[in-house]
Amino acid sequence: MRKADIAAFFDRLAETNPAPKGELEFVNPYTLLVAVVLSAQATDTGVNKATRALFAVADTPQKMLDLGEERLRTYIKTIGLFNTKAKNVMALSRQLVEQHDGQVPRDRAALEKLPGVGRKTANVVLNIAFGEPTIAVDTHIFRVSNRTGLAPGKTPLEVEKTLEKVVPEDRKQHAHHWLILHGRYVCKARRPECERCVVEPYCSYTAKTTAG
Ligand code: SF4
Repeated sequence: MRKADIAAFFDRLAETNPAPKGELEFVNPYTLLVAVVLSAQATDTGVNKATRALFAVADTPQKMLDLGEERLRTYIKTIGLFNTKAKNVMALSRQLVEQHDGQVPRDRAALEKLPGVGRKTANVVLNIAFGEPTIAVDTHIFRVSNRTGLAPGKTPLEVEKTLEKVVPEDRKQHAHHWLILHGRYVCKARRPECERCVVEPYCSYTAKTTAG
C-alpha cells in the first residue's frame, strides 16, 4: 500500500471511530493483564462474563493469591483451557507480588517473563494500560494487514515490525484497536464486507466482495 493510501486508510478509520476501545473489561493494569491471559483462544464476551464476578473479589495479585487456584478455577471454568490459564494467573500473580511489589511492570522484558505472557499480551498491556504505541498482532490484525497490503508478512512478528514502520506516528496509539475492530466486524475472516468498508478505496485485496 502506498504511503499516501496508508495515511488515508487510518484517516478513514479515525473518522469512523475517533476513540476506539477494546472490548475486554478491566479495572486496572493487573485485571487487564489477567483478562488478556484468559482471552487466548476465547471470545472477549466469554471472558467478560467470567471476569465480572472474579474481579469483584480479586483485582490485585495479592487478592488473587488469597483466593487460591481452586476457587479461581470455579470463576473461569466457562473459558477454554481454563486449567492451564488458572495455573498461569496464579504463577504470574505470585511473580508480581514477589518481584514487582504487586504492580504490573511497564517494561516489555519483565512482562514477557511472566507465566502465560508472550509478546502479544505484553503489547496489549503496554498499549492499553500504559498508553504506549505498541501494536499487538492477533489473528484479525494479521489478516487485515496481509489482505489489504498494509503490512504483508508471513508471521505475526514480521507484520508487527512492518506496521511499526508504516503506520503514521500520530496513528500508532490507536492502530491496534482500529485494526482489530475492523477485522472483527468488517474485514471478517470468511467473508469480508467490502461493500460497506470505509477503507475500500485504499485496499489492495484482489477478491473484494460486492453488494448483491
Ligand atoms: S475492502 Fe474488503 S478486503 Fe479490503 S479492507 Fe475492506 S473489507 Fe477488507
